[in-house]
Parts: sequence; structure tokens; C-alpha cells
Amino acid sequence: MRTEPLQIQNFIDGQFVEPIGGKYLDNIEPATGKAYSQVADSDSRDVDLAVAAAEKAFPDWLKKPAAERSKILLRIADLIERDLEKLARAESIDTGKPLSLARTLDIPRAASNFRFFATAILHTESEAHITDGVAFNYTLRQPRGIAGLISPWNLPLYLLSWKIAPAIACGNTAVAKPSELTPMTAYLLCEICREAGLPNGVLNVVHGTGPKVGAAITAHPKIGTISFTGGTVTGKKVAEACAPLFKKVSLELGGKNPNIIFADADLNAAIAGSVRSSFANQGQICLCGSRVFVERSAYKDFVDRFIERTAQLCLGDPLDEKTEQGAIVNEAQLDKIKFYVDLAQKEGGKIALGGKTPEPVNDRCRDGYFFPPTVITDLPVSCRTNREEIFGPVVTITPFDNEEEVIGYANDTDYGLASSVWTQNLNRAHRVAEQIHTGTVWVNCWLVRDLRVPFGGMKASGVGREGGTEALHFFTEAKNICIAK
Ligand code: NAP
Repeated sequence: MRTEPLQIQNFIDGQFVEPIGGKYLDNIEPATGKAYSQVADSDSRDVDLAVAAAEKAFPDWLKKPAAERSKILLRIADLIERDLEKLARAESIDTGKPLSLARTLDIPRAASNFRFFATAILHTESEAHITDGVAFNYTLRQPRGIAGLISPWNLPLYLLSWKIAPAIACGNTAVAKPSELTPMTAYLLCEICREAGLPNGVLNVVHGTGPKVGAAITAHPKIGTISFTGGTVTGKKVAEACAPLFKKVSLELGGKNPNIIFADADLNAAIAGSVRSSFANQGQICLCGSRVFVERSAYKDFVDRFIERTAQLCLGDPLDEKTEQGAIVNEAQLDKIKFYVDLAQKEGGKIALGGKTPEPVNDRCRDGYFFPPTVITDLPVSCRTNREEIFGPVVTITPFDNEEEVIGYANDTDYGLASSVWTQNLNRAHRVAEQIHTGTVWVNCWLVRDLRVPFGGMKASGVGREGGTEALHFFTEAKNICIAK
């Protein structure tokens, strides 16, 4: 039975409303290539309405005691957990990711985001400084007003809630824009927020395209804070739009993450971890390790076993419980992946596994966007395939001879989001982790999350940090109050 609406409307001032222009875009299910609902094709007029609602809601929300804001956010977390199955299904249909992944990763992490920030605001601290015998200074952190929150399609509810939760927990109101490719879970979240008693106008969601809605949010003079997650090219446009208006901006952007395996690693763990970090969500997680480097003495063994394990991944209908690899988000992304697989071969790479459009996984998915896990060897480290973000189920594997060499390889890219290091040698783990230019380094693991740690990228992977105290500081303004003695 269909539970989703045929038309996804905007959520403004606590109501679902038509976009002013009355236009909708088809919402395509990646696994079938067919429209399964429609989403509002909004424009700057809808953003203006959302800003007016957020502005009206701000004074009361700001004054609400933290304990009351906390209770509402905790209710939202509870309701996400109550609706886990419905949300996971919506996310799987919207994105093409396996239902099992949405159920175990995306949706539980979205609930954790609300729960974490709901309780974090009850335990904040403020600094105080005694200035000799002259004055007493203390820091007052206040919400900044209306936050503009723009998120991508790959982990739609997880990433949107990672922004909404800290923004509103701190007392801001928000205007959010999910990717128009994957709007369904944001719509369901709005229903949940209403049920949880979130006051009207605290969260407003405007659906539509980046150039129309996203650009209107970044340009809006009343939105002083922008939290953006997406590609590096778009991030640059966001930075350019925000700079002349002096907005506070956080940019979480693309990656080309190295995954380094030393010969002394527990190879079973490294192989299992690397298969996961290479192909989870069809490689469409910004943190996926798309460049695998293996110490030469372990290279052949690793490659043989890695390919054997990868070949066993079950590519199928995302809604099938057995499926481990689902669909690619849309045709444009599929074409991009194919382009890079062709390019890799022109650059001298050897396709060791995958590389070709697979047979249809079933009748329902005959016209869906599928691509198999693909492993490429024999490529130079400095080629385009090894430097540019593909964002699909494609990894390259390269041998290395020593620590210094592999640190050079790892850093030989414009990106600096995340990396993994597999070794049993503790000293080496610290030494290498310290020298890799990425915002996160995982040692003998991948995608382990602690919401208290700073999260973000270096170099072209972005500026600013999310997570824990960093997020609470981002969404507040620190004011110094200096009282003379
Ligand atoms: P994207 O094309 O940059 O889009 C991200 C969001 O920005 C979407 O909502 C998009 O709307 C919107 N947008 C597009 N043009 C805009 C503009 N001119 N002004 C304001 N907003 C605009 O990225 P994507 O393809 O959705 O996502 C994949 C990328 O996100 C990858 O590069 C991945 O590495 C990165 N990512 C990074 C992180 C991280 O934490 N660092 C996490 C996840 C993903 P439309 O959908 O309408 O284009």
C-alpha cells in the first residue's frame, strides 16, 4: 500500500504548502528509472516565505529553556525510531541504496543526531576569564538567527538531521533544502516534527533545485548562517555567494580518500573493512576509500582476496533483503562513473573486476541505474582517475614500498576528507596518521562515529567542522562580556 504522497510539498510555518509557482519535478526511483512521486520545484518566493516563518518563530524559540527544546528533539528522535521501517523504505526507494543499509545505518544515525544534540545543550559550559585586577570576562553564546541548511542526496536524512538537530537545539530557526533527487525522508521528517510538537516555523523545508532554491538560500540577506554539504564545485559557488554578505559558512565537500594497508595488518580485517569502505552505498559515501594502497609484500594476496570478496557482493533490487549493492542515484551519476572507468583504461589501468553494465537484476529494475563493484589496478598515482572524485563503486589499488612513499601518495590529491590505515604497529599508526592531510584518520576501522568528535575536511574537502562542541559553536555567536572590577 502506498504511504507516500504523490506530490511532496514544502513545509513552511508548520504546514505543507504548494510551491508558489505551482510547479513540480518528477521524483525518480533509481532502481526502476521511473517517477514514483513528484517534488515541489520551488523558487526564491518560496524561500522568502520560509524565511518570514523562521523569522517569526525565532524570538519564542530562542527564549524557550534548553530543557524544553531538548524534550522536543528527544521526541523527534523517538518518532524516527518508531517509524524506522517506513523511513528506511522511503530512503531506499529515493536513493537506490539497499533497504538493509538504510535500516541499519542512515535512519538510526538520524535518530542519534537528534538525541545527541538534545542532550548536548543541557551540558554546555561557558568560559570565564579574570583579567588581573581589572575586569571579569565571560563568554555568552547566543543562537545566530535563521540557519540555511543545504544537503546532498547520498545520505539524505542522516546528513540533513546532522544539520537540523544542532541548529534548532541551539535556539536557531532553520530553512532547509534537501537534494531534489531524494526529498522523501525530509518530507516524512516534517510530519514527525509536527507530531513531536516542534513549534511552527522553527523548521521550514523548501524543496527544489540547487540553482533556484539553494542559491536563493545562500543569497538571502536574513539567513546569516549557512551549513552546506555537497560537491566541491557547488561548495565554491556557495562560498562565493556568502562571502560578500559575510555569512558564517561551513562547507563539507568531496573526497578522494586513501585507504592504506601495511603488510603487518590483520589482513582478514583489512580486507573485510576495505570491501565495506570501498563499496558501501555503491561507493556513494563521501568517506568511502576510493584509493587503496597496499604494501608490496602483501599486494598480491590482498588483491586476490579483495577481488574474491567483492565478487560475492550481491547486486540487486534495493528492496530485496539480500541485496548488498543497490542502484546508482541517477542517470547522470551513472554516466559519470562509466566515463571514469573508460578514462582509467585510457590512462593504462586494468579492470580487475566489474567495469561493465550488468544484466538487469530483475524485471522491476530493468530500466534502473546499476553498475557493479569495479576494481582497477596498474594506474599511476597521479592520473585523473586517482585524483578526481568519482563517487561510485569504483576503486583503484596501487602497491607501495615504504611509509614515506605511501604518505606522499595519500596526500597527492586536492582533497583531504578522510583516510584509513591498517597496521598492527601502534607507533606506525600514530606516525602515519599524523602526517596524512585529512580531517579524519581511521586506524583499523572505517565509518566508526562518535558524535562528540570534530568532523570535516581539509584542503578542497571543505572548511569548518561539524560534530559535538564544534557544531554548537558554529550555530551560536560567542559574545564576550567584559565587566570592570
Ligand atoms: P551537489 O551537487 O554539490 O549538491 C549538494 C546540494 O547543494 C544539493 O541540495 C543541491 O541541490 C544544492 N545546490 C546545487 N547548486 C547549488 C547552488 N548554486 N547553491 C546552493 N545549493 C546548491 O552534491 P551532490 O551531488 O548532491 O552530493 C554529492 C557530493 O557531496 C559529493 O561530492 C560528496 O563527496 C559530497 N558529500 C560530502 C560530505 C561531507 O561530509 N564532506 C557528505 C556527503 C556528501 P540539487 O540537488 O538540486 O543540485
